[in-house]
Amino acid sequence: MNRKPIIAANWKMNKTPKEAVEFVDLFENHIGGSTEVDIVLAPAFVALPAVKEALANSDTTMLAAQNCYFEESGAFTAEISIGMLKEIGVDYVIIGHSERRAIFGESDSMINSKAKALHAAGVKPIVCIGETLEERDGGKIEDVLRRQIEEGLNGLSSENMPDTVIAYEPVWAIGTGRTASPDQAQEAHAFSRSVLKDMFGEEISQSIRIQYGGSVKPANTQELMSQEDVDGALVGGASLEAESFSEICKNAC
Ligand code: PEP
Repeated sequence: MNRKPIIAANWKMNKTPKEAVEFVDLFENHIGGSTEVDIVLAPAFVALPAVKEALANSDTTMLAAQNCYFEESGAFTAEISIGMLKEIGVDYVIIGHSERRAIFGESDSMINSKAKALHAAGVKPIVCIGETLEERDGGKIEDVLRRQIEEGLNGLSSENMPDTVIAYEPVWAIGTGRTASPDQAQEAHAFSRSVLKDMFGEEISQSIRIQYGGSVKPANTQELMSQEDVDGALVGGASLEAESFSEICKNAC
């Protein structure tokens, strides 16, 4: 099946609103008017309105938040609701990033609540999954990926799935400079798609885009993207410079 590649920049806790807008101006110049990939920028919450405004004339680049909370409103100090993000014009929300899981203790069931709430609000989730090095070395990759997918997407309907993006990010490859080989990525993506097939059927599973994340850079994008089940990239470090991120987007076509 022909799946449109999706390349997303996860800026994590980097870039003030001013720096984020400077990036957008440079990036939009580099990338030009049209591209065959969906491009998504995920700045920090405080930079979302400024980036949205800076992207007003862009035909190609969409906006994501790096997290959300699943309740609509109430006594949840410092949390951000999906309604708040929707009002800014956010298209996607990254959920379940390994840093959220490891540092902030997010569970599969919390990620599932976020996925359901996002779909109910008509905002698209990018659901991150991936094993640690210990889990890989212990032969547990498939168990971990199956659990994260089954529990993270539990209760979602088939109609929700074409608007759901999965990001396979082996934890040992994030921010380490150590990329999964194209074969390792393909193997994990194909397995993830087989779990999606068990849950939602062959046709739906073929329509779901699965991004690879973990030390993606301009030099390794093409080879990763040439794998059958790799449909895009979630990029941390190399997305912070407009030039390298635009190279990644171009190399993904
Ligand atoms: C990430 O944090 O989502 C990521 C993939 O980071 P990096 O590209 O820096 O490994």
